[in-house]
Amino acid sequence: MRLTKPVDKRRISKGELLIIATPIGNLEDITIRAINSLKSVDIIACEDTRRTRILTAHYSISKPLVSFYSYNKVKRLDSLISHLLNGKTIGLVSDAGTPGISDPGYTIIKAAIDKGIKVSSIPGPSALISALVSSGKPTHKFLFEGFLSNKSAQRRRRLADLKKEERTVILYESPHRLLKLLKDILDVLGDAEIVCARELTKKFEEIKRGKVSEIIEYFTGFKPRGEFVVIL
Ligand code: SAM
Repeated sequence: MRLTKPVDKRRISKGELLIIATPIGNLEDITIRAINSLKSVDIIACEDTRRTRILTAHYSISKPLVSFYSYNKVKRLDSLISHLLNGKTIGLVSDAGTPGISDPGYTIIKAAIDKGIKVSSIPGPSALISALVSSGKPTHKFLFEGFLSNKSAQRRRRLADLKKEERTVILYESPHRLLKLLKDILDVLGDAEIVCARELTKKFEEIKRGKVSEIIEYFTGFKPRGEFVVIL
């Protein structure tokens, strides 16, 4: 693969939406191009302004932050699209990782594309890729399922659909639902070898590999805390 000269020399076009990946925990996991882009855009659209402010303060970025939460996204969507159509540049970030992956970012990306707005991506971390490559599971083909349903019956149905799946399967889960998910995996898929990646890039990073029953036992004795990726 041929690398090109720094593309931050490329001017951001008027009315462009930049999808900017930010760290999944460790503030140092951000590209130079992401920082330069965040310093150049007119507006930063984020999920939680308090979380994004930690990042912008750390890198002395002083651009207006507009929250793009799930509950207000319809209202905010129209206003952000109007800004783009009026020539303002917007940097879209999420609380962690790559916007558009299991977060509200997709809605604005799709709406911008539908309006003919220029959309480009400043690549960087995503929890699914970090977890996959450090899991030891085959990486040549994989299926990202994100969060399964929080309703047990639906979750179990989806797991049953995955019984014959040959690719590595990647799931996201919150700490308070982890044990429920693991128990459903045990019931539906049996005592398979899985990987649980917790708090990647952070102080308490931990990658547990083993049978589902062993991982359930581990997290029963030690209350699950932090953010999890489960790999089947
Ligand atoms: N956009 C993000 C990405 O690119 O990975 C994902 C956002 S989603 C709302 C948040 C979920 O990602 C968490 O519940 C967890 O499953 C996973 N996640 C994010 N950061 C993580 C980390 N540092 N370690 C493990 N999992 C993480």
